Amino acid sequence: MADVLAGRVYLVGSGPGDPGLLTLRGKACLERAEVVVYDRLIDPALLALAPARAECLFVGKEADHQLLRQEDINRILVDRAGAGKTVVRLKGGDPFVFGRGGEEAEALAAAGISFEVVPGVTSAVAVPAYAGIPLTHRDFASSFTVVTGHEDPEKPESRLDWQQLAAGAGTLVILMGLGNLEEIARELTAHGRPPTTPVAVIERGTRPSQRTVLATLADVAERARAAKLGSPATIVVGDVAALRDRLAWYDNRPLFGKRILITRTREQAGTLAALLAERGAIPVELPTIRIEPPADWGPVDHAIDELDRYAWAIFTSANGVRCFFERLEHRGLDVRTLKGVRLGAIGPATAAALAAWHLRVDFSPSTYVAEAIVEGMKQLDLAGQRVLLPRAQDVREVLATGLASLGALVDDVAVYQTRPAGDADLARRLFEAGEVDVATLTSSSTVKNLVSLLGERAQQLLSRVTLASIGPITSQTARELGLTVQIEADEHSIPGLVAALEQGAHR
Ligand code: SAH
Repeated sequence: MADVLAGRVYLVGSGPGDPGLLTLRGKACLERAEVVVYDRLIDPALLALAPARAECLFVGKEADHQLLRQEDINRILVDRAGAGKTVVRLKGGDPFVFGRGGEEAEALAAAGISFEVVPGVTSAVAVPAYAGIPLTHRDFASSFTVVTGHEDPEKPESRLDWQQLAAGAGTLVILMGLGNLEEIARELTAHGRPPTTPVAVIERGTRPSQRTVLATLADVAERARAAKLGSPATIVVGDVAALRDRLAWYDNRPLFGKRILITRTREQAGTLAALLAERGAIPVELPTIRIEPPADWGPVDHAIDELDRYAWAIFTSANGVRCFFERLEHRGLDVRTLKGVRLGAIGPATAAALAAWHLRVDFSPSTYVAEAIVEGMKQLDLAGQRVLLPRAQDVREVLATGLASLGALVDDVAVYQTRPAGDADLARRLFEAGEVDVATLTSSSTVKNLVSLLGERAQQLLSRVTLASIGPITSQTARELGLTVQIEADEHSIPGLVAALEQGAHR
């Protein structure tokens, strides 16, 4: 049956920059796109929503430099859709606010191509919001006007009616106006807006690199120049702009704009990156370890064959859980094999990894280090009991010896090993160029590997950044390598580390 939707173009607004501001409808369209035609400033996270096989075409459209002419873009849309493809035309902000989306829709209509417009969150509204500026407010402004500050240079005279724009106290939102800021301020003042009128210029709004200059019509041009503000920028003129002093909520977060290095495995980086991004930080991923199968599966398989003989299985990492259960599946078994075995987890992430298999833990310690597990397990009467300890190859024996000291019969089996990984050139470049503010150290092996990636200059390069460690053992390793740790998590987990970073940033 022919797909009636084949060959449709979705004109999708991507929002102003923060990928979280894409609409649900926009996401659904991207998820089934066969072709994505996108502009500059579109976040890679949005393109990643499209199927891997989708063709992604960058057409780099921006206010003044155009990579492709508008007609070329229109032709791409018409051709691809005409060939029966589902096309997403992903545009900044809202597609019908200054993005020439209207012209693209006209071209589609003229060619008889079916299309749908998916509105987006326009930067005209969202950028001021992220700067703590409400466009209307009962005490200050009961209207707002969105105008372009960049007119077609070929137009003989300005179509902007400065007289009208300057009149009253309504808020003005000016897009594409940075290049003409001086003239805009002059015209508005000349036509009657008081020179003391507050003006905010917001660069790269809704992004962790957002910067704002709050000034007045009299000095905004000079102040924006001094701050070297660049595009994209949104200008807000009116008394509401001054509310930012009290209402800033985004760019004053403790971790805002901080570039934070994540050294754990690529698979594990995601959780930490998401927590950091939510706090306005910029996660920089540099995996220094990777997970590989253990040198020998023999001991694991042997333990799996006799699982019913164990009283306990204690997991010490989410990786351990994943690798153990993958092996179980590989052997044609499933969680039922663990029936009757009680489960321990050394920390909340490990417990969560078990929960993902619908398994509840019977024991987890109050603090997340091996010593605490041993202490906590004293009450469990382990004497003579068999305990399985699936863990990483070549790690500390504290847990195994501790449990043995309680009389447990411990079988310590390696279900994975961590191997050094990482791009030494990238690592050096990041530190030498000062592109890292904080480096997170989430295990002893990440510290060791980071130091070896950086080579001879490791101590010197790492002394330029704040080092934040997940706990005392990792910190100890760092100190042994000649590093100074400034922040250490009280709770030795990823959320604990993030909390410590936030507090550290306040100090
Ligand atoms: N259709 C878009 C606007 C396109 S015009 C929308 O609805 O948002 C491009 C202008 O939008 C830029 O020159 C700038 O003025 C503004 N803009 C877009 N993204 C912005 C951002 N992240 N921060 C500040 N201004 C932005």
